[in-house]
Amino acid sequence: MSTPPQTFEFQAEIKQLLDIVIHSLYTEKEIFIRELVSNASDALEKLRHTKLVEKEIVDENLELEVNLTTDDKAKTLTIQDFGIGMSRAELVENLGTIAHSGSKAFLKSLSETGQKNANLIGQFGVGFYSAFMVAKSVKVYSRSWRAGEPGQLWTSDGAGSYAIEESEGQSRGVKIVIELKDECAEFSQEWKVKEILERYSAFVSFPINLNGKRINTVQALWLRSKNEIKDEEYTEFYKFQSHAFDEPRLRLHFSADAPLSINALLFVPKENTEKLGFSRLEPAVSLYCRKVLIDAKPKDLLPEWLRFLKGVVDSEDLPLNISRETMQDRALIEKLNKVITKRFIKFLEEEAKNRPDAYQEFYSQFGIFLKEGAAIDYTHKDQVVKLLRYESSLTEKGKTTSLADYVSRFQGDQKEIYYLIGPNREALESGPYLEGFKARNLEVLFCYEPVDEYVMSNVREFDGKKLVGADHADVKLADLPKPPEDDGLTAEQTTALATWLKETLGERVADVKASDRLVGSPALALNSDKFMSPQMRRMMKAMNKDSAETPLKVNLEINPRHPVIKRLQATRESAPEKARLVAEQVLDNALISAGLLDDPTKMVARLYKLLESV
Ligand code: ADP
Repeated sequence: MSTPPQTFEFQAEIKQLLDIVIHSLYTEKEIFIRELVSNASDALEKLRHTKLVEKEIVDENLELEVNLTTDDKAKTLTIQDFGIGMSRAELVENLGTIAHSGSKAFLKSLSETGQKNANLIGQFGVGFYSAFMVAKSVKVYSRSWRAGEPGQLWTSDGAGSYAIEESEGQSRGVKIVIELKDECAEFSQEWKVKEILERYSAFVSFPINLNGKRINTVQALWLRSKNEIKDEEYTEFYKFQSHAFDEPRLRLHFSADAPLSINALLFVPKENTEKLGFSRLEPAVSLYCRKVLIDAKPKDLLPEWLRFLKGVVDSEDLPLNISRETMQDRALIEKLNKVITKRFIKFLEEEAKNRPDAYQEFYSQFGIFLKEGAAIDYTHKDQVVKLLRYESSLTEKGKTTSLADYVSRFQGDQKEIYYLIGPNREALESGPYLEGFKARNLEVLFCYEPVDEYVMSNVREFDGKKLVGADHADVKLADLPKPPEDDGLTAEQTTALATWLKETLGERVADVKASDRLVGSPALALNSDKFMSPQMRRMMKAMNKDSAETPLKVNLEINPRHPVIKRLQATRESAPEKARLVAEQVLDNALISAGLLDDPTKMVARLYKLLESV
């Protein structure tokens, strides 16, 4: 009959490891299931290879699957696979010494950081030993695939030694029976184990059954070849993996071998839920290593502005036991981040070129994220700016242009890119700021979103050309062909009127001068504060009432060819009272166009007074 149990001491490092594992107060104890299922899946994979090269294999016809069973009365969890199994010698080698990489790296990191409190455990997989986080005792029944190797039972309570004895009646592979600690009894509940398997092991290739029911029914689509996958399969996968109800708007499925091995499947959802008023999106592209989940919401895998993406990134280069704490692994995540972001930007460029209408629809939902990227992602700024689209004074309503196309339409010696910010096209087209640009055939980009101000001032330039607000005080436009002399006020008259206006309007203006950008309007107002555009001022006002109390002082530019201005000059001496009212009204009208009039009550009263005199 079988030989009596033989007792072995764990190797010193394993003892140290077990001590930490057992005494750690780590909350994510559940990862032991991920670790054991991964080991089982590896063992099945190895058996599949072995079958190709070996003729004689024990229990040849057993299914390649993993079976878990819970027993909440006995407080046990059993994990069985029909993989390669381990012989007696292999049990000693694999489960008694620290020959393998995962646990070694874990211990190394502990000694480097000097951390005795092992919060690192959940971040490392400590593989098989993680079972001792939850176990009173662990029994490993094992039978090697090699004929002639008897079944074995390996037992330990993790306290320093283990025992091995022969055990009859074992089928090929490994069966691990975990007797749970009382405080960890929840892992003998079917619903609990089901939830954990669904989270971490949903895409393992071999069937995983829990109490006889199949758990993983969805394939790891990202590892299959693109041209074999149907649209419906992608959609189904998206819904499953992202817990989504919509259909994806765009998808990118790609793989790369250098500098890292990556298989990625990324989706853009139909709608931007942030835009709909829902809360800020969380990172949702999950990180896998060979189909096993490492982190469902990795923070640094993608830049913040790509938080609208869903999907999966799988890299074989990641050790399963990745630690988010060590420099080495952070560098790896950074590398992944770079490769994926670059690839996704390229994908959007192609979309914009090949399917402009679909891109425009995407942009109307998600353009706001691209703007965020252009404004704050210093690494990718230049690439992301190329993806921005704006309406302009030369596009039709609803049609947009890229900055590159804008630049290709530069006029004469145009050196700058002009933009205007306002609530909509109508407001910008009817405002006074556009006139001078129109008269010179200069294109102006129309920006309708409040963030555009921030984006434009952060992006600053594109392709070496400065981005300049068409309503900024320091824009210099080339001279227009001189209008006939009698068409407007002379230079002296204009100067005299400007001086009078400055006196009359007093505190409300910083400067008054003739304008080079007005054609059809009598006057326009420019914020005299170079660093505070009208939009910025409105924003400040919305955020903090006090700051808006600072009296506004603007530069007023007048149009010497406009009838109102000509009449003002003609009548300011003969009818000084009325001229003063007209001057105030011209200023207020200019402020309205600029969105700078804070309080219209005075203006309304004045307007009635003017109307009386008609
Ligand atoms: P790792 O999986 O990182 O190598 P583990 O501590 O989890 O570390 O496992 C140590 C070794 O034990 C494995 O490399 C493998 O050779 C062996 N092993 C673990 N689980 C099984 C299993 N279910 N079937 C066969 N061999 C196993």
